[in-house]
Amino acid sequence: MAILPTRAIEPPVRADQERIADMLRQIAEIGADPTAGISRVGFSKDERDAHELVGGWLRNLGLAISVDPIGNTMAVRRGAAENKPAIAFGSHLDSVVHGGKFDGIVGVVAMVEVMTLLAEGRAATEHPLKGMIFACEEGARFGEPCIGSKAIAGMLTEADLTRIRDAEGITLEQAMSGIGLNPLQLADVRWNRDDLAAFLEVHIEQGRILEGESRPIGLVDVVSGSTRLRMTVAGRAGHTGGTPMQHRADALAAAAEITLAVEALANGPTYRGTRATVGVLDVYPNRITTIPGRVDMRLDVRDFDSDRLRRAAREIADRARIIADRRGVAIDAEVIADTSPVVLSMWLRQALSQVCGELGIDWRFMPSGAGHDAQIMASIAPAAIIFVPSKDGASHVPEEWTSVADIAKGADVLYQAILRIDDVLAAS
Ligand SMILES: [Zn+2]
Repeated sequence: MAILPTRAIEPPVRADQERIADMLRQIAEIGADPTAGISRVGFSKDERDAHELVGGWLRNLGLAISVDPIGNTMAVRRGAAENKPAIAFGSHLDSVVHGGKFDGIVGVVAMVEVMTLLAEGRAATEHPLKGMIFACEEGARFGEPCIGSKAIAGMLTEADLTRIRDAEGITLEQAMSGIGLNPLQLADVRWNRDDLAAFLEVHIEQGRILEGESRPIGLVDVVSGSTRLRMTVAGRAGHTGGTPMQHRADALAAAAEITLAVEALANGPTYRGTRATVGVLDVYPNRITTIPGRVDMRLDVRDFDSDRLRRAAREIADRARIIADRRGVAIDAEVIADTSPVVLSMWLRQALSQVCGELGIDWRFMPSGAGHDAQIMASIAPAAIIFVPSKDGASHVPEEWTSVADIAKGADVLYQAILRIDDVLAAS
């Protein structure tokens, strides 16, 4: 699709760095952890308080605020034309335990700043604009990320509400009900895809590529997919003194060899770029005088190419079987999660790169190894992710930091992109 630059970039409109700094400071007061960083976990009172704080700012701009039954907060700015699908943008306000002040927050603050600039300039758009604050994006508490956006995209089922639990055994449904939400109305959360024209998210990079290149903006082209395996290695437990080495079936020694084989596969030429990690080894009985009889392993494979991703996972399972056979232990492997990579909208990327060029902002295309709400929203509409730099690549730690100047650049790009997208869609 051709991009038609019908509305010129308006140089005087620029994000206000002081306002951005002030918003970040106020949000960081909610869920500040006395031990370290921010602990504003999904479906907690702190998360609700943060939604209410930001929702209040948006209400003061004259926007219509609503909270859906599972806690996604939305701010709608009416479009000039009737019955047009919305252009939505935003991110999340929950954090991991001992997390930072920027992951998710930056995208919400950029959204508020853009809504503020639009209100100040009385700029009209043909399409309605929807400022989004998604509930419970982080997978840290429930093991499942992007709960709010998945519900909107119709990717969360009623069965998930009782199946998915946190470490304390609290189900999603209990957690939501406990803070006054209405998970039983899940069906009402889902959006009709005809109501959404595009979704954009500003987010911190959570890596060090932009910082290393002194570039303020990254436009994400593809988001990594992930295949997760559980492997159980069953050997024979026995006395460490009484069992000669040649009579053993040591499950941990086999698991260790498999772990090194996983690393070697991802380091080899065939799978260059694939990331494969054994993150969990549970050893039984885990005693110093007993040969390990069983090891439960869990591993995560990530790639930007879905065929290569699944081929790598299959090859890992095959190599593990060969190692297990040679060592005389049994092995059982199963896929426990499988998410395809997502290629983000080409025409939105093109529009964003044009806007960056016109604003004189240095940018690059880049992949995202981490998952985001935008990748979920991409299942119902064209979606885009605008990365801003992370100092030292730090993320999910208290040291997370991005300069207000860079966040302002992200907001500038978002502002101009929304006007550009509105024009392109109106003209087509
Ligand atoms: Zn995030």
